Amino acid sequence: MTRIAVIEKEKCHPMACGGYLCIRVCPVNRTGQDCIVKGEDTKASINTEFCTGCGICPKKCPFDAIHIVNLPEALEKDPIHRYGENGFHLYSLPTPMFGKVVGVLGVNGIGKSTAIKILAGVMNPNLGKEKEDEAGYDELIRYFKGTEAQNFFEKVRDGKIRISYKPQQVELIPKSFNGNVRELLSKVDEKGSMEEIADLLDLREFLETDISKISGGELQRVAIAATVLKDANMYIFDEPTSFLDIKQRIKVSKFIRKLADEDTAVIVVEHDLIILDFMADLVNIMYGEKGAYGIVSLPKPTKAGINVFLEGYLKEDNIRFRDSQIKFSPRQAGKDVEKPALISWKGISKRMGDFHLSAEQGELKKRDVCGILGENGIGKTTFARILAGVVEKDSGEMDDTIKVSYKPQYLESESEEPVASYLQDAVVKFENQLIRPLNLNNLFDKKLSELSGGELQKVSIARCLSQDADLYLLDEPSAYLDVEQRLLISKIMRDIMEVNLKSCLVVDHDLLFIDYLSDDIIVFDGEPAKHGEVKGPFPMSDGMNSFLSGLNITMRRDAESNRPRINKPESQMDRKQKSEGKLYYS
Ligand code: ADP
Ligand code: ADP
Ligand code: MG
Repeated sequence: MTRIAVIEKEKCHPMACGGYLCIRVCPVNRTGQDCIVKGEDTKASINTEFCTGCGICPKKCPFDAIHIVNLPEALEKDPIHRYGENGFHLYSLPTPMFGKVVGVLGVNGIGKSTAIKILAGVMNPNLGKEKEDEAGYDELIRYFKGTEAQNFFEKVRDGKIRISYKPQQVELIPKSFNGNVRELLSKVDEKGSMEEIADLLDLREFLETDISKISGGELQRVAIAATVLKDANMYIFDEPTSFLDIKQRIKVSKFIRKLADEDTAVIVVEHDLIILDFMADLVNIMYGEKGAYGIVSLPKPTKAGINVFLEGYLKEDNIRFRDSQIKFSPRQAGKDVEKPALISWKGISKRMGDFHLSAEQGELKKRDVCGILGENGIGKTTFARILAGVVEKDSGEMDDTIKVSYKPQYLESESEEPVASYLQDAVVKFENQLIRPLNLNNLFDKKLSELSGGELQKVSIARCLSQDADLYLLDEPSAYLDVEQRLLISKIMRDIMEVNLKSCLVVDHDLLFIDYLSDDIIVFDGEPAKHGEVKGPFPMSDGMNSFLSGLNITMRRDAESNRPRINKPESQMDRKQKSEGKLYYS
């Protein structure tokens, strides 16, 4: 059996545990052998030859930094890549296919970005040897002898496959480019189709704007445009829909689908399951242990692949990669009629500069989680601030004002404040409801500025929910989180509202997340920066019906998993649901 030892260096704080606790508890070290030692970087380091797999150090480490893993029998081979001796191990790669969009699905830290960077040729794998020892194409071809990947790397070596790649972190683009959007795109435009792509991806309005001044959603579309302007026959996108609203997500997924033809292969990493389902022909599931090692499953048809992922069990390999199944249940109408009211409003109108907001008539209930669908700049924050009484309405009625706790869309990450002090209220009041389930303990010693995107999101959500308020407004909590984390957060929010008789408004662009989370739904209509109309709260199906009518798509539930899916445009179901006026089967 192969055993690997991985230390997540950024989680290892050898002084904060009382001085190399792992070294002190290791039974092998006690016999005088150097199983765990202080590494050159002062962090703990494990010699795999001495490790007996006793399992004591991973249990004792207060920061969950150590993984000792017995790999599945089938993995009797060297990894494709290893980030240093005690670093993350990657064991396989997704399978690109011409004419198909291949999706990659897996939790954060399981090696998705690493795997597709290797396919894209922006990172050279080391085949498990020392970090500096990068393998050339000939070595890779030997490693993969007799597999699809051999064929693939031969074609890359011979220049028959030309690859273009969009990295995950589009936030980094402004740091490496000075100039406006048009200048950036002209520089990479090998096809001479900048004008056409600018129209297809709605870039016209900000072509002349400086790259450093555009929003996250705009930057994402610029990055996608830059990727497809390169003359390539394989396009790879790492998380292409982050920061986009639903309309844009659907537009981008249609666009990416169209790229795949006989001579072109497309690979996409995506956490929005409805979008992945809509966009991909096949999916590769990535599993293993986050932070420690990752394996890629064989490609499966998308529908089945997503269901396998939700189930957490790979039949052909007899591997359970999650303890529990992720379940969706069909909605039961009218189950929440008994909830007490929190606040109600009627005929509200408010002008802010050039923007006008109106809200017909509505009521929020206690113990309620209400989803909000609406574009950016359509008045969601303004509405919450009116409910909180911090913005005065011009006219209309409201029976009360309430205290609102708010998590903004864009998170403050410059702060030097330690996580432990930022989350003080949560530690005191919500140890069991927030700190433990979200695994926040092992972040306490870090400063906010040191957190990754996903960590900062979890910390910000915990902070927002631990404040004393009547209403919690969370703007895009799913950003940077993987599917499992999104569903965990939904559960936590629901529990807190239920137990503490509070209410929660959640703005998000991941429809599966909204569907999973919400008791009812508010839809913002209008035109961003001009006018917004608050409609609802509606029961889920009515609200979705109204929302989907603006998008020209229909949705139904998957018979096996009950998850919502977008119907193929012009399919039998699509036409049937449109003719019945039931755009959303709940
Ligand atoms: P994903 O895209 O699935 O979130 P990544 O491929 O980004 O996963 O990362 C997989 C693991 O590899 C993580 O534990 C990450 O910390 C580690 N890792 C990523 N890049 C590096 C690096 N340059 N050096 C060391 N470890 C890394
Ligand atoms: P959302 O939360 O849906 O993104 P907001 O409520 O923040 O939208 O903003 C809606 C619109 O109102 C935007 O166009 C914004 O520029 C404008 N706006 C917000 N606050 C002010 C203000 N204090 N003065 C002028 N315009 C404002
Ligand atoms: Mg990634």
